[in-house]
Parts: sequence; structure tokens; C-alpha cells
Amino acid sequence: MKAEIIAVGTEILLGQITNTNASVVARALATLGIDSLHQQVVGDNPERLTAAIDLAAHRADLVVLIGGLGPTKDDLTKQTLAAYLHVPLVVNFPAHENLRRYAKQSGHAMTPNNWVQAKLPFGAQPLTNHVGLAVGAIASRGPQHFVLLPGPPREFEPMVRDELLPALAKLAGGHAVLRSRVLRFFGIGESALVTQIADLIDGQTNPTVAPYIKDFEVTVRVTAKAASDAEADALIAPIAQELLTRLAPYCYGDGDDNSLAQTVVRGLADRQWQLTAAESLTAGALQGALGDVAGVSEWFKGGFVTYSNATKASMLGLDKATIDAHGAVSEYTAKAMAKGALRQVGADIAVSLTGVAGPGPNEGQPAGTVWIGVATAQGVTAQEYHFAGTRNSVRGRAVKAGLFAVIQ
Ligand code: ATP
Ligand code: MG
Repeated sequence: MKAEIIAVGTEILLGQITNTNASVVARALATLGIDSLHQQVVGDNPERLTAAIDLAAHRADLVVLIGGLGPTKDDLTKQTLAAYLHVPLVVNFPAHENLRRYAKQSGHAMTPNNWVQAKLPFGAQPLTNHVGLAVGAIASRGPQHFVLLPGPPREFEPMVRDELLPALAKLAGGHAVLRSRVLRFFGIGESALVTQIADLIDGQTNPTVAPYIKDFEVTVRVTAKAASDAEADALIAPIAQELLTRLAPYCYGDGDDNSLAQTVVRGLADRQWQLTAAESLTAGALQGALGDVAGVSEWFKGGFVTYSNATKASMLGLDKATIDAHGAVSEYTAKAMAKGALRQVGADIAVSLTGVAGPGPNEGQPAGTVWIGVATAQGVTAQEYHFAGTRNSVRGRAVKAGLFAVIQ
């Protein structure tokens, strides 16, 4: 199957927003072995959109339209596609019900335009929107398929993953199911990871192996098409095992919604351990990440933000002169901070972060130098890191490395 992606929106043409949705859907299609041969970007203009659809329809079996499903005057994608296919727009009842519930809950009166969001081209298969109001669709004309997807990424991405891909898997191969397993890694760059598994990425069509990088972590998605869940799992298992064998030191978990912070909290719960933290360059960001995890309060009672040597000493019960002598960014200070935090809170494990966020050097150490300490009743260890990038990425990487250090 050959695909063409059309992103609709004058904002994209003007460069005001970046067309990230097109790359998300292209990657998703690739996992099904569907080739994307062309992409177009077109403004909110029905004549030019019609021409774009027509061009795509002459060279692709699958035309994916992104954006313009909303209630405003410039949202014309659905209407334009329906006109192009010579079919009316008709109400999709579940989507209509969704809108009605929203109107009732929010107390907003719906305008006639709002209700258009619940309409689909006649005969189209709906793609449920679990996050927003506009329903997506696959409209088919003979062997050709036209897909309508909402623009906002928080609606678009789950619809692609949970609705579109399974539907296309059926259309493309007659396969009943599409299953993915997601493995999550930290501490290895994407290019290093890809080098280690290049043969698996290149050699596979079912399952496919697709790495991507987000928030300083690398995720590898293994996706299989098969007649049943069990068959798909059987295709995925040996590849997932091979990935884990090769990349064992970096793997911290699996699953789509499984963050490093969640893994840390689960690990604490397993051991029934209390965690505390003392943060210098990250100024509480690691503790903030823990706070995002529901249920963390059982395992995290509190911690410290100790930016200056004076607060490191006073809050953590340390000797300022000794910290000054070793330097704020040093093995000694990282270990002393972790031990001090452990003692002050009476926790079972403490993590400490001290480093140079940048942009410039500090105390003669280059930006990106970070020491991370971990203390338990068994003793204390510390490790030095050198992170590249801007101040924010140094701090972001330090938070992740601190969380990763806790589960080692
Ligand atoms: P809405 O109901 O919000 O109007 P919509 O389906 O009509 O949604 P658009 O109006 O085209 O979508 O876009 C809404 C917003 O979604 C844009 O302002 C932009 O932030 C985001 N968006 C749209 N298209 C893309 C794209 N191709 N890539 C990334 N973001 C996009
Ligand atoms: Mg819109």
C-alpha cells in the first residue's frame, strides 16, 4: 500500500507550527510496511485542498489528511473531502453523544459548528477520539482509503496509535491484530543504540523494530501483524529478547506509559523503601518528577534543594569548610549530600545531584559535569557524568540519570 500525507493548515505553511504530526504518522505507517511516497502541506483553502486531495488520489492508495476537523470557519477538511467523494456528511452517534455530554458537563452552549465535529462522510468508518471532540474517519472509495485526523497532537497521537493503525493493519494485510511491545532505555544515545541493533532494524518486516528518542530516553517499539494476539506475541518475543540481551545495562522497563519515575516508585514499593533526595543543579526537578507519579507519597516524604555550599552544609548537617575544600561539584560533595539527606530524613535510600548546568564553567569544571551520589544503609557510591547540550538539557539528563541511579 502506498500512502500520501497531507497536512492542512495555513499556520504550517507560514512556519508558525511545525508539522510534527506528519512525521508521527509516517513512522506509524512504516511499522505496517506502508510506504509514504509523498507529503503535501496545504493552507485552509478548499480549492487548493481539493487539488491536493486529487493529486494524492492519483498516486496513492491511502491518503492521510491531518487537521481541520475542528469547529471553526477555517476547519474545512472533512467538508472538502466529502465534497470530493460526492458523499454527504452524516452524524456519527457516539461522537454526537460525546459532544452532548461535554456540553452538559462544561455548561457551554454548543454552536451549530460544534455539532459538525460529530459528522462523518457517509459510509466512513469512525476513528474514536478519546481525548477531544472531533471524530476521525477512514472513508473508502473502492480500494482507496482517505483518512481524517484531528490536528492537535494530544488528540492526533492516540488516535493514530490506538485507532488508525489497528484499522489499517486489517485493511493492509487482512491481519486481524496489530500488537506492539515498547522497551525503554536510558544512558545510551540513539545512534549508539541503533548501531548495536542495526541488523534487527533493517532485517525485520514483521515484526518491525522502530527506535525513537524522547526526553533523553530511547524507546524501541517492536510491532507485529498477525492473525491473533498469541501469534503476534510469539513473533515479538524473540526479537524483544534479543534487544534485551544486547542492551541489558540500559533497559529500565517496558510499556507505553511507563516513565523512569514510575519505575523508581514501583521499585521503592517492592522493597518497601523510603527515598529522599538532595539536589543542587536540578533544584528539585528530580523530586518534581517523582511527584508526578500517583501514590509516591508512601515512599517519598520529602527532600532538599541545596544550591549553595552554605545550604548544603546547614540543611544536610555537613561541614561547609570541607565542602568548600573539595568543591561543590565533586565526588566528596555528592557522597556527603546523599549521606546527609539519608540521615536527616531517616530514609532507606538517598540520591544526590551536584553539577555545572552551564552555560559556562564553574569552579574550573566545564558545563555538563555532574556528580550523582546514592546512599543506603549499605554505604554510599557516586558517579561522574559529562552531559552535552544546553543548560536545560544538562539538567534534564541529570534528573533522568539520578532516577536511573536509584534503580541500579
Ligand atoms: P481544533 O479542533 O483544535 O481546531 P483541528 O483538527 O481543526 O483542531 P487544526 O485547526 O488544523 O486542527 O489545528 C489545531 C492545532 O493543532 C494547531 O494550532 C496546531 O497546534 C496543531 N496542529 C495542527 N496540524 C498539525 C501538524 N501537522 N503537526 C503538528 N501540530 C499540528
Ligand atoms: Mg481547527
